[in-house]
Amino acid sequence: MARVLIVGAGLTGSLCAALLRREASCPLQLSVWEKCGDSGGRMTTTTSPYNQQCTADLGAQYITCTPYHAKIHQSFYDELLAHGVLKPLTSPIEGMVMKDGDLNFVAPQGVSSIIKHYLKESGAEVCFRHGVTQINLRNDKWEVSRETGSPEQFDLVVLTMPVPEILQLQGDIENCESASREVRAECCKYAVGLFYEAGLKIDVPWAGQYITSNPCIRFISIDNKKRNIESPDVGPSLVVHTTVPFGVTYLEHSTEDVQELISRQLESILPDLPQPLGTKCQKWRYSQVTSAAANCPGQMTLHLKPFLVCGGDGFTQSNFDGCITSARCVLEALKNHI
Ligand SMILES: Cc1cc2nc3c(=O)[nH]c(=O)nc-3n(C[C@H](O)[C@H](O)[C@H](O)COP(=O)(O)OP(=O)(O)OC[C@H]3O[C@@H](n4cnc5c(N)ncnc54)[C@H](O)[C@@H]3O)c2cc1C
Repeated sequence: MARVLIVGAGLTGSLCAALLRREASCPLQLSVWEKCGDSGGRMTTTTSPYNQQCTADLGAQYITCTPYHAKIHQSFYDELLAHGVLKPLTSPIEGMVMKDGDLNFVAPQGVSSIIKHYLKESGAEVCFRHGVTQINLRNDKWEVSRETGSPEQFDLVVLTMPVPEILQLQGDIENCESASREVRAECCKYAVGLFYEAGLKIDVPWAGQYITSNPCIRFISIDNKKRNIESPDVGPSLVVHTTVPFGVTYLEHSTEDVQELISRQLESILPDLPQPLGTKCQKWRYSQVTSAAANCPGQMTLHLKPFLVCGGDGFTQSNFDGCITSARCVLEALKNHI
């Protein structure tokens, strides 16, 4: 049975795993290696240390489906809506740019539930804290090394991390990755999740708001209100995204300093907020792709025998539909090799 390794448990990696399981013509031994302690990647959902039901989406906020993607990706939307993983966004997001025919969706259990759905569907062995460091050729297989633990050999490897992280890998892969260097490094920003006591009402007429007049804060969301799951037993959670210039300026500063700066700016926008019970600050070093690979190929095949391919939003565009397109292209490329 061919051993397939997918590196990265974000949306592209989880979709590749689910599509491979559904569409491969022969049985495969599927593994997903993820460097973090949970799945989601840039669609991560963090939980309050005081209440497991109080969560906040620190990366992607909502899914925008254009009329074109509604057609070509209809089965993906239908599946997630049927399982209750997605539902229409009905709460007001001030400053959101809406184009004719666009539909917006939120994930009631948090945006990372999309990734968890696909991983479950795939039946793959998912290994957390498996940060890949090196990829080398050994006896017509790929020998993949990680930060801790022994290297393992695979017949096929799919890389789905952001391109700048692919370029940091060492070993024989360094000789075949030159093609992916054309992808423009992503912009960086910070996201902070703030968790409040049950019963607190944040008295504003919106669930999310784009801010244009603040040098630090670009977007605020009251996450439980955005997802339409407000409850008297669970405190509200607030998500703040910074501007890219702020992210660039404070990229190497301590999390404590950055959190303090963001809190002060938030106070000027929402002066009546009490102290949160808990806070989580996330640095997105590579947040969204500013310039994808030429002609958006969806995937880039780096080696044929044994097969090595990379996918992800760097080869399409930084959103839900971009990841579906990429996963489908990876699958097409893989099909001839399994
Ligand atoms: C702040 C922010 C807001 C966004 N807003 C939206 C939005 O509203 N709507 C929308 O559709 N999209 C949005 N996006 C974009 C969307 O989140 C991404 O396009 C999508 O999540 C990319 O998925 P991916 O699987 O390609 O990459 P990732 O999610 O980055 O997944 C790659 C995975 O690889 C892992 N990894 C990295 N290096 C290694 C290694 N060496 N070994 C093992 N694992 C590794 C990472 O930990 C990660 O889990 C937003 C992104 C950000 C950051």
